[in-house]
Amino acid sequence: MSNPSLLILPGDGIGPEVMAEVRKVITWFGDKRDLAFDVSEDLVGGAAYDAHGVPLHDDTMAKALEVDAVLLGAVGGPKYDDLDFSVKPERGLLRLRKEMDLYSNLRPAQCFDALADFSSLKKDIVAGLDIMIVRELTSGVYFGEPRGIFEEGNERVGINTQRYTESEIERAARSAFELAMRRNKKLCSMEKANVMESGILWREVVTRVGADYPEVELSHMYADNGAMQLVRAPKQFDVIVTDNLFGDILSDCAAMLTGSLGMLPSASLGAPMDNGRPKAMYEPVHGSAPDITGQGKANPIACILSFAMALRYSFDQGAEADRLEAAVEQVLADGVRTADLLGEEGVTPVSTGEMGDCIVAAL
Ligand code: ATP
Ligand code: MG
Repeated sequence: MSNPSLLILPGDGIGPEVMAEVRKVITWFGDKRDLAFDVSEDLVGGAAYDAHGVPLHDDTMAKALEVDAVLLGAVGGPKYDDLDFSVKPERGLLRLRKEMDLYSNLRPAQCFDALADFSSLKKDIVAGLDIMIVRELTSGVYFGEPRGIFEEGNERVGINTQRYTESEIERAARSAFELAMRRNKKLCSMEKANVMESGILWREVVTRVGADYPEVELSHMYADNGAMQLVRAPKQFDVIVTDNLFGDILSDCAAMLTGSLGMLPSASLGAPMDNGRPKAMYEPVHGSAPDITGQGKANPIACILSFAMALRYSFDQGAEADRLEAAVEQVLADGVRTADLLGEEGVTPVSTGEMGDCIVAAL
């Protein structure tokens, strides 16, 4: 059998710097765990624009549709700010999401014990936190028609439309239930069925899909209450599923429970492929961080944890994903910190490369 395939798109800014550390981890798995990947690397974003005049070459797009998983660094930067909208670096990312039809966005909020003091919340509220938000990514109010700014009488009106079809809700719900089955069999769906028609349909469809997953304990919550509960007592949740808009807000909210942007991975999943695994792209939540690019200050953990998600969700290597996450936990417990994680006085930060080396050593 051929090795599982992985397309690496380092992108711009700190993307290539953090990806270099993931490469060390991938090499380790090949050498020590006999877990080899067919890795190919290509350009995306500003780097692709510089080489080809477009933020994503057609050949790269074709490759992304063929591989088992895509791992992306970050795109964009000040150098590209004045480009025409059609060739902006972000368009490369959007094209990947759209053509791979990645409708389900997974964002974990996980608090490593060693960083519990560093969180914006009280330690007992976040210590041991491990939740996952599933955000519908390709529909809802960001895409619904009609949309635009229109003349109405003697003034203008700005319109967006929250629109969900049953099938769009169903596939997002199904991916959340599948995830819940792999975790702790507990799912909370969030909408505002009290004031929104799309929310009524959302609740109805999620409940119906739930009949196929009798082992999963399903609950429903209005999204405003959900926001409050996330901050008040986040450990009551395990998997949360919600729409595009609420997911955008709630996942940022959950992210800040844990501390730094440099720690947060994400996965975007689509329909199952022939091998039963979903089409998938993994990327850190953070952007290209132009303010620290090229200085060895970037924290590679978000990107390394994104690879751990790929191990778990695309390559069926849950135990190896656990191993990698445990190595990260170990390094943090040892007090190793990149500059973004510095809270205590008197700690000297390590560089991007040193953090990667420490994680490989812990492995
Ligand atoms: P984008 O528009 O691409 O989301 P952004 O400017 O909103 O980008 P980031 O590029 O993520 O956001 O940067 C936000 C801040 O967080 C910056 O000060 C950046 O240096 C810091 N930051 C982001 N990622 C990391 C990282 N991996 N390690 C350390 N600091 C980071
Ligand atoms: Mg931003």
